[in-house]
Amino acid sequence: MPATTRYSAAWLLPVSAPPIAGGALLCDESGRIVAVGPDSTVPTPPGARTIDLGQAALLPGLVNTHGHPELAAFRGLLDDLPFDDWIITLNAARRGAALAPEAWTDAARWTCVEALAAGITTMGATEASGGSLEAFTEAGMRGIVYREVFGPDPAVAPAALAELRDAVNLLRLHETELVRVGVSPHAPYTVSDELFRLTAELALAEGYPVAVHAAEARIEEQLVLDGAGRFAAGLRRRGIETPPRGRSTIALLERTGVLDTRPLLIHCVRVDAQDLRLIALSGASVAHCPVANAILGHGIAPVMEMRAAGITVGLGTDSVASNNRLDLLEEARAAQLFQRARLGSAGELSNADALRLATLDGARALGLEARVGSLEPGKDADLCAVSLAGAHVLPVHDPLAALLHSARASDVVLTAVRGEILYRDGRVLSLDAAALGGRVLAMAEALRRARDEWRARGAPPPFEARPATPGGGEA
Ligand SMILES: [Zn+2]
Repeated sequence: MPATTRYSAAWLLPVSAPPIAGGALLCDESGRIVAVGPDSTVPTPPGARTIDLGQAALLPGLVNTHGHPELAAFRGLLDDLPFDDWIITLNAARRGAALAPEAWTDAARWTCVEALAAGITTMGATEASGGSLEAFTEAGMRGIVYREVFGPDPAVAPAALAELRDAVNLLRLHETELVRVGVSPHAPYTVSDELFRLTAELALAEGYPVAVHAAEARIEEQLVLDGAGRFAAGLRRRGIETPPRGRSTIALLERTGVLDTRPLLIHCVRVDAQDLRLIALSGASVAHCPVANAILGHGIAPVMEMRAAGITVGLGTDSVASNNRLDLLEEARAAQLFQRARLGSAGELSNADALRLATLDGARALGLEARVGSLEPGKDADLCAVSLAGAHVLPVHDPLAALLHSARASDVVLTAVRGEILYRDGRVLSLDAAALGGRVLAMAEALRRARDEWRARGAPPPFEARPATPGGGEA
């Protein structure tokens, strides 16, 4: 149960209003924000706990719209690989390690430890295991867990859908006020048109939120537009036909009904003006993952054009398998830097807008803006505090510049969800980080061995025919 708490800090960043120097925030015992403003205007009710954060910025909890918490043990295992080799190696290690389901839940818990220490209070998680539902609930975090479904062969679409329906029905028994369940038809190179159609129908009928990896890679584009390229060759080796499927991935998602679900579209690096019109018309939103897109060489998403078209854009780290850090301040900075470099203009994506991507717009992208994303009376007290006292941050002429361009995730000193403090001064309070760390390192070692054994046998070509593995999947 959260206590009535009055926070004060050198800077308060409501996001929905300009920064407040010497600000304070009061949250009640239901975890709701009841007052925000200059210190002198915010009351101190009798018996309230008071927390003076000093030379720090207090801001809304960061919203990571896209990650794969179950993949925590893959950090650093797949670096410097081209995209198709990256996916194949990830799946080979996953299959070869043959870990128990609880291991994937432990990895998701470990991601929660890292996220809370980085000021992240809400996550959109796409994953095969669904372990994040338990992990988020134990950690006290907020999120949407999109259960993934795979099947590039149209013949397996009905069976894949039945498996998804059963898995989601089970997961839904454990939904809470903070953690919801959704579905994720993974991507055009792992999901047939028929499976996209069936999943969209299920989501619309049941009201499930939907997330889909879309328009990420050049080899995905080659497959969708021309039925060509390395993904297409791999699918044909499995006996799966690869006819052209549309003028773009977004057109494919429109044709198969996925856009009707107003999905969270993950990546959208390779989109043109026509795609942006379709996305805007549908009311879909975008999870922009600038660092992961750069690491895998996919390119830079046209964020400024998306925003100009009226599309809601949030930020995502993606998994630590493709972005070794879970640092949303870095993502906001990268989003700004990449747009400025791409367009040759220092005027693109102001610091205020970059912070908005990491908070309020991320909340909007997940449909949670009525509850979180800004510091306003009536919203839930999902908060993070970032120290601005380090030598690498001082002096602070402008709190937004200090936060986005000088501070780092490691400067976070406090994280709270709905008024409950979950991280403070270097300690996650809701999970046993030390015990988890040992289990995740053992898991990482099993994955590394499986990767090395698979490589020693000689890497098979992309998407070679192989039996389906329960709990396995493409990232
Ligand atoms: Zn992803």
